[in-house]
Amino acid sequence: MKKKGSLIVISGFSGAGKGTVAKRLVKDYGYSLSVSATTRAPREGEVDGVDYYFKSEADFKNLIDYNGFIEYARYVDNYYGTPRAFVEKELAAGKNVILEIEVQGALNIKDQYPDAILIFITAPSVEALKARLIGRGTEEEAVVAKRMKRASEEAEEIDNYEYIVINDDLDECVHNVHSIVVSRRCELKQNLDFIEETKKGFEQI
Ligand code: 5GP
Repeated sequence: MKKKGSLIVISGFSGAGKGTVAKRLVKDYGYSLSVSATTRAPREGEVDGVDYYFKSEADFKNLIDYNGFIEYARYVDNYYGTPRAFVEKELAAGKNVILEIEVQGALNIKDQYPDAILIFITAPSVEALKARLIGRGTEEEAVVAKRMKRASEEAEEIDNYEYIVINDDLDECVHNVHSIVVSRRCELKQNLDFIEETKKGFEQI
């Protein structure tokens, strides 16, 4: 019997570099990355179907009605949601699936998938975070201010996560996240079927 993949929820403040971490997990370790749908306008260089599925509000609401999302949330004036079909297909195929989503979505996932691994990624300091957001140059000042305010609210939610990883050195951060996933997959309670099979195997000798 094929073991199901793990569902890994990566959250973190805007500018913490979680998108880069997720892409490296795909490249280095073969994880699957869920592409979310959003009503936010594309940033320069973002590609529909790669970075997000960019939707009108009407299309997004239609998908909600058809149970097309495993979770969705509103974040700084826009909707974001995780398409259901891809996640379920990949997990069933034994792939580790990453959701890069915000806090409300993460908690919603944990309710539905109790084995999901909730990881919070953060920059080494609040100053570093603000510098990265400004340095990215994709957001206007007012949006940076809104995102910093939202980040301060999200800081209150860190306690809901199971792991925190500081993204100071990218290689180390990626390695640490993968180590968390590997260790979780080795937990006894994640391998009850295998243990049962092993015991049965001995009975038959
Ligand atoms: P951004 O606009 O910077 O791409 O994303 C804003 C926030 O929305 C980030 O914290 C990101 O992780 C989160 N986000 C992206 N996709 C989803 C999703 O499908 N569901 C939820 N709940 N949050 C998402």
